[in-house]
Amino acid sequence: MFGMVVPATANWKKIGIMGGTFDPIHYGHLHIAECSRHRFGLEKVIFVPAGNPVHKSRKSITSSARRMEMTALAIRSNPNFDMSEVEVRRSGPTYTVDTLEELHREGIGDQIFFITGADAILEILTWKNVVRVFELCEFIAITRPGYSFKEMDRVLTKLTKPQRDRIHFNETGGILISSTDIRRRVLCGEPIKYLVPPEVEGYINENGLYFPEGEEFE
Ligand code: NAP
Repeated sequence: MFGMVVPATANWKKIGIMGGTFDPIHYGHLHIAECSRHRFGLEKVIFVPAGNPVHKSRKSITSSARRMEMTALAIRSNPNFDMSEVEVRRSGPTYTVDTLEELHREGIGDQIFFITGADAILEILTWKNVVRVFELCEFIAITRPGYSFKEMDRVLTKLTKPQRDRIHFNETGGILISSTDIRRRVLCGEPIKYLVPPEVEGYINENGLYFPEGEEFE
């Protein structure tokens, strides 16, 4: 089912790593990946569903197997998108530095751009081995229209100038769709059509995801 495992021999010049929980993946994520690919001249965008996110307060996260399956379904029609199982293969908490080290060892690309929500970047100072993280990648931090940089500025001043220069902010409307809202909609019986690809909608329905009695958590 997980069609894609990034070939060990792959070596792209500029590669995007799309990191997120993807619970579930939605059109916002896909649009963001495509816009980032276009704007930064990335040869590929590899989706890396988070395995066991250390930072999550929400106890009930859908199993990594299900999140991987939804991601695989969502990206399969786009030859510029791939998926890596690197995080879900790893047991224990998932740290981005370990993911980047592994992809770096595999020689995945010369210049790695880690694409994620600006909110995740707000917590960057708490990430494991943040110095090494900045050595291994640059960030594409996705903001919503009207995003307030007040809190972000406080974080940025604590980084070195070379680190700050490695964060590229990118505003896109895609992030107006949110996984939280999709889970809420499913729970309330509201439509999610046109917010997620039809294959993902079908998968959620068939497997009874996001209903208290139907969910399958880690
Ligand atoms: P999240 O809390 O699920 O998401 C934070 C915000 O960013 C949400 O609004 C989310 O929207 C959005 N978002 C998530 N992934 C995105 C993406 N690829 N592009 C644009 N927006 C995105 O974030 P997360 O999944 O926990 O963390 C993001 C990444 O940072 C993951 O790969 C995670 O492993 C990594 N991280 C690492 C550490 C560490 O190493 N210690 C700590 C924290 C995070 P949706 O809810 O709609 O997705």
